[in-house]
Amino acid sequence: MTSQHRKRDERPVDPFKSLGNETRLEILRALYEHRQTASATGEQLPYSTLRERVGVEDKGNFNYHLRQLREQFVEEAAEGYRLTFAGFEIAKVIDIDAWRSHEKRGPVPVGDASEGNAAGDTGAPPADTEASGETPDAPMKAVYEDSIVKIERGETTLFAHAVRPVGAADRNMSDLLDVASTLWRHTIEQILEGICPYCHTTVERSLTIGSEGPWEYSFAVECPQCGPIGGSHAGTALLTHPAVVSFYWDHDIDLRNRRFWEVPFIGDEAVTVLDEEPLELRIDLELDGDTLAVILDDDARVVDTKRSNL
Ligand SMILES: [Zn+2]
Repeated sequence: MTSQHRKRDERPVDPFKSLGNETRLEILRALYEHRQTASATGEQLPYSTLRERVGVEDKGNFNYHLRQLREQFVEEAAEGYRLTFAGFEIAKVIDIDAWRSHEKRGPVPVGDASEGNAAGDTGAPPADTEASGETPDAPMKAVYEDSIVKIERGETTLFAHAVRPVGAADRNMSDLLDVASTLWRHTIEQILEGICPYCHTTVERSLTIGSEGPWEYSFAVECPQCGPIGGSHAGTALLTHPAVVSFYWDHDIDLRNRRFWEVPFIGDEAVTVLDEEPLELRIDLELDGDTLAVILDDDARVVDTKRSNL
């Protein structure tokens, strides 16, 4: 955490100081609203129009505040002013309408891997799931609350991903779940590539057994800037691997169209511990009598795959 604090101290400008003024917020808002309705090439707002929309008659006063935003949040171009990328991000965050509170949705029942298998459309379960004779778990359900889609079993949250309220507003719950699944898969893909989904710096992953989370086998992710940014079941590390994607594709299943919580290899039953020091796991996939064994190292990296017929 030392490097994190040092980086904070080195930041030259306090963004909230330059934003702590109603006129400056109005300038951002005016440029943001213009950008929402403008064409891709017409995002600039002429100086006179901008000042008129912000509603400041005193030109000197307006210029002063505009200057405070220049470079970092607002830039001047050939035909007027526009938001920088940082300005766009800030304006989006402070866009109150985009975060206006919304009704909680759900819970609604969602299918999990075993239900999918019963319907015959998700592929075979790991061999011991149905034979184990254990009491069935509570059914999975989904809720949308505080801008977060959560997949829960009983009181336990298995997966969670934010969907901004504006993105949720015009979608029904089923479409919203599809969106959450897609966003989640993209987030995992970034993490697997070593990219923090929030700040884009390099993240560290580590495979663990018996963590505090809902899974026995999981990986944790740590960002030097953002801190711990969660983790997921170890099987998640397979979701976008080409050997896994093509294994499913060869059995007429496009993994992109699966809600990830319905995928059978994201579950502890599919995992076998090969070695504990360093940790090495095997995750077994089975479809129509074909198997794919995937080996993960202690960074949750796929290091080997083996495909065979039963
Ligand atoms: Zn980060």
